[in-house]
Amino acid sequence: MRRTPRPLVAGNWKMHGLKSSLKQVRTIAASLAKTAPACDVMICPPATLLRPMKDVAKASKLKLGGQDCHASSQGAHTGDVSAEMLKDAGAAAVIVGHSERREDHREMNVDVRAKAAAAHRAGLMAIICVGETLKQRKAGAALRVVGHQLKGSLPSTATDKNTVIAYEPVWAIGTGLTPTVDDVAEVHTYIRKRLQALLLDGSPERVRLLYGGSVKPANAAELLVTKNVDGALVGGASLDAKDFLPIVRACR
Ligand code: PEP
Repeated sequence: MRRTPRPLVAGNWKMHGLKSSLKQVRTIAASLAKTAPACDVMICPPATLLRPMKDVAKASKLKLGGQDCHASSQGAHTGDVSAEMLKDAGAAAVIVGHSERREDHREMNVDVRAKAAAAHRAGLMAIICVGETLKQRKAGAALRVVGHQLKGSLPSTATDKNTVIAYEPVWAIGTGLTPTVDDVAEVHTYIRKRLQALLLDGSPERVRLLYGGSVKPANAAELLVTKNVDGALVGGASLDAKDFLPIVRACR
């Protein structure tokens, strides 16, 4: 029987959030302090909110993450943020290879791998996103695409402790559509299997595999008990504590 790793529910705030949004984090932190969750809980705000959010979250076990990082630790890269800077601002992790980055910034697997390696260099956990488009799924290529992204994006520095894989079908992100739980189980089981050959250090069984794409309070419970699903990456529903907390509490 597979030893299940402790699940992780992570919120991706994308380009949302001002200082006024910290009240959501106050509510989340207070709830976590009152009743311990059955999973690790993380919010990945815009970089501008990391430091103030760290102050709000400090008495709780809420972890913080960045949404992207540059592969270099410093340099002439106007507008970019390094993994070391995210760590310095209070992050414990960083999302890399989100489909919005792959699409908006033409990021390729090789870029994602360099960013994940940068996260490891800085002592951050890398949350590496993979996922197929609707066209690719309809063509029966979902597993091939995900396998290719995984192989190309996973750096040699990855271990079960410093790396999380988020399976996010592109067509499910922000659309209200979700794959069937059987489809999610098929992809996650495939990722787990591929990790046996790809992970050079640590146990593939202990790598957390998150599902992401229109996770809501109404569907979280069934997704979170799906085979080989070790948590969720949540976009829209992580912006409001009244939606995010029920998702966290759906983890058992
Ligand atoms: C995401 O962007 O990582 C995501 C899963 O978004 P949503 O939950 O809004 O579909």
